[in-house]
Amino acid sequence: MSVSFTLSPAQEQLKQAARQFADEHLRDLAAAVRAEPDPRRRALLARPVFEKAVGAGFLKGLIPAPFGGAGGGGVDAAILIEEWAAQSPDFVISMAGPLIALAPVYEAGTPAQVRRFVAPFLADAGAPVAAMAYSEPEGSANFDAPPPAEGTRTVARPDGDHWVLDGRKQWASHLPGWDGDGPEIMTVVCRTPGGISLVVAEREHLAGHIEVEEYLDLPGLAGCLTARVRLHGVRVPRENLIGAEGQGPALTRNAFVASGASIGTFATAAMRQAFDVALRFATTERRGGADPIIAHQAVSDVLADAKGRIEAVRLLSWRALDAALSGDPAGPELALHAKVFGSETAVDVITSLVKIVGVTAYDTAFPLLRYLNDALAYPVIEGSNTGVRRRQLQELLRGPGYDPLAASGMR
Ligand SMILES: Cc1cc2nc3c(=O)[nH]c(=O)nc-3n(C[C@H](O)[C@H](O)[C@H](O)COP(=O)(O)OP(=O)(O)OC[C@H]3O[C@@H](n4cnc5c(N)ncnc54)[C@H](O)[C@@H]3O)c2cc1C
Repeated sequence: MSVSFTLSPAQEQLKQAARQFADEHLRDLAAAVRAEPDPRRRALLARPVFEKAVGAGFLKGLIPAPFGGAGGGGVDAAILIEEWAAQSPDFVISMAGPLIALAPVYEAGTPAQVRRFVAPFLADAGAPVAAMAYSEPEGSANFDAPPPAEGTRTVARPDGDHWVLDGRKQWASHLPGWDGDGPEIMTVVCRTPGGISLVVAEREHLAGHIEVEEYLDLPGLAGCLTARVRLHGVRVPRENLIGAEGQGPALTRNAFVASGASIGTFATAAMRQAFDVALRFATTERRGGADPIIAHQAVSDVLADAKGRIEAVRLLSWRALDAALSGDPAGPELALHAKVFGSETAVDVITSLVKIVGVTAYDTAFPLLRYLNDALAYPVIEGSNTGVRRRQLQELLRGPGYDPLAASGMR
């Protein structure tokens, strides 16, 4: 079978539809987000656009077809994410909650759990949100560390036919939901008597038992609804445990495979936008000299290197997302490379573009630093590269029988 990197007619159509939606809705949303100083009001600006996206069927596109959605392959996902993230990565992160929060349900949920937890996200209207509540304010890089280390601090205590959840969670998009009463579903990484486990809390369990301690004011991705919340006495039916007690670490790691791969695509979107701005500047600005600054080889070298690295990260991310969403055994390794290499390349590339534009770039009104602010998030979100992701790569490389050619298929 041949491998083609040419977009199919359906993918061309998807790209155009995604670009049109981004041009019509996300560009203005991003401008409004930049102008609003209050983090909560800023995040709520996304809701009407979110409803439009749900109405247009985009949310269903995040749910894999075997679970009732319209999700396509990894390259389709990459096309949609890149087009939207080019205008508003915060909006994509806000919508993509089900991609992570439902992954453990697809992997280990019973048919009844799949039906119940996926149903809100098959809607044609409204703004249903999901949160993968893994991170905690005191840290999460060592969430699976056994006692006496604290690891995950949130507990789920058995009480008759319920779990009672207590603890604090931070960072995950939409922990408070739109109104502070919680998202439609929250997949909570917690400590049960049998180890680290995953329990799904639904909005009806959370309302009245979730307190928002603070809405976070992020320097990039500023439209994300990101907060620190306290869960107190959240009563969840025992049957909302996903898989078995103690299965939490593996399910959590797997939940972040596809979203990790997608970070390469977010990085591509930020680099692509920054490159456009820098190229336009370099081809039109003389800065008092005789020629546009691209005539200086030092400047054109930076642009050439940047372009090559953008193309490399884009293709790696396509491959990684394709592998992650199709269940290819190469998925976990390629997703890690897309996450680590993609995110760090974006920070380097955009920093180098800032340097060739010069001091003009150092003005928030000039459209370049905003992409660096977003890109700076990518090495630290979805499991920071230093704290979690490189350790996962180390484990892979140290594993018995690790074959360096396997992920590429060139074995
Ligand atoms: C916009 C946004 C969206 C997010 N979405 C989610 C989400 O949906 N769900 C969610 O749960 N979280 C989410 N997060 C949080 C994110 O996933 C973080 O990557 C995660 O909390 C881990 O961060 P950390 O590794 O820095 O952890 P920390 O535990 O805070 O560690 C801090 C640092 O200590 C060092 N460190 C700690 N332990 C080790 C070790 N064993 N080895 C090496 N170094 C170590 C590393 O340098 C690490 O970066 C989001 C964050 C943002 C900003």
